[in-house]
Amino acid sequence: MQAIKQFIKAFSLWEVLLGLKLTMRYMFKPKTTIQFPEERTPMSPRFRGLHALRRYPNGEERCIACKLCEAVCPALAITIDAAPRDADGQRRTTKYEIDLFKCIYCGFCEESCPVDSIVETCLYDYHFEHRGENIMTKEKLLAIGDWQETQLAQDRAADSAYR
Ligand code: SF4
Ligand code: SF4
Repeated sequence: MQAIKQFIKAFSLWEVLLGLKLTMRYMFKPKTTIQFPEERTPMSPRFRGLHALRRYPNGEERCIACKLCEAVCPALAITIDAAPRDADGQRRTTKYEIDLFKCIYCGFCEESCPVDSIVETCLYDYHFEHRGENIMTKEKLLAIGDWQETQLAQDRAADSAYR
């Protein structure tokens, strides 16, 4: 009897029909996938992606070279050199680098910064093609900050109660 059942199942492609039944069940349900990168899912204002250094609206860089972010970084990913600026004697960084191969995206640098200078953006789809591109220099970080400033300001305004 069992053999006859098996024969009929094999002859009628029973497993294929079962698979098609499952396909039909999900065919008309709402889709949960999106067309990345044209479409993106909503993101938290606290998402910790690629780093950036911010400026004040007058173009002055926020960082005061206090080195708190460097001290707090558990991965030792941040390297800072500092010196008084020629123009007005204010202390500023002469070198600010983040090694993205070391970074664990914990957000401690962002939390520790007293002037909201070093931040983590919502950028997560980036890649490296050449040796050394993992080192984010001050110039690169400031450029990302300038590019993302509108989004960064919006995220901070939306999330101000928690900061
Ligand atoms: S996110 Fe964390 S690991 Fe990365 S640079 Fe900041 S403090 Fe260091
Ligand atoms: S980024 Fe912020 S915490 Fe880091 S050195 Fe500059 S002011 Fe200090």
